[in-house]
Amino acid sequence: MSQLDLRSGKLVIVAHCLLNPNTKVLGVARRSSALWPLLKAIEDHDCSIFQLPCPELGYYGYNRFWATVEQLDTPGFRRYCRKLATLALDSLVELARNGIRILALVGVEGSPSCAVGKTTSGSWRGDPHLAGETRKVSKPGVFMAELIQLMREAGLDAPALDIREKSPEEGIRQLRLILRGSA
Ligand code: SF4
Repeated sequence: MSQLDLRSGKLVIVAHCLLNPNTKVLGVARRSSALWPLLKAIEDHDCSIFQLPCPELGYYGYNRFWATVEQLDTPGFRRYCRKLATLALDSLVELARNGIRILALVGVEGSPSCAVGKTTSGSWRGDPHLAGETRKVSKPGVFMAELIQLMREAGLDAPALDIREKSPEEGIRQLRLILRGSA
């Protein structure tokens, strides 16, 4: 490779809205711009970022309501997520087989689509004014479930963690530990 090529060959896969909160459901964006401390952690470990698409923006649009994982887990949305995840995977496989190391997958805690470990559950349906309580459950959102499965099948397992957007410090600390361990 040319000595002018400075790539480190290391990357972190990141859920879309951690870099672009404009795609979030209206009313829940906790930042005006990218989550810079996350980017700083990635930069400090000389990694690049692979930004995933926002599945809810593409399927349900900008003016969607909040939702639980049960509401989004439909055959149609799952198929859409699998298609997006397959397209992402094609690029990830191509990078990996050319020596790029995928060091981590970062999701969004609570998201019915993009959580990797803890999503939001509740039996919401019908009149949104009557929506009851929700709770966090330990499972991935629809999109990340599809991506994680495809990555596993392709032999691209990577440590996965969620960022809690109201208090991202712990997630970023965990990511730093993972990246330090894979140096
Ligand atoms: S968590 Fe996923 S689906 Fe929700 S706004 Fe972020 S990228 Fe889009």
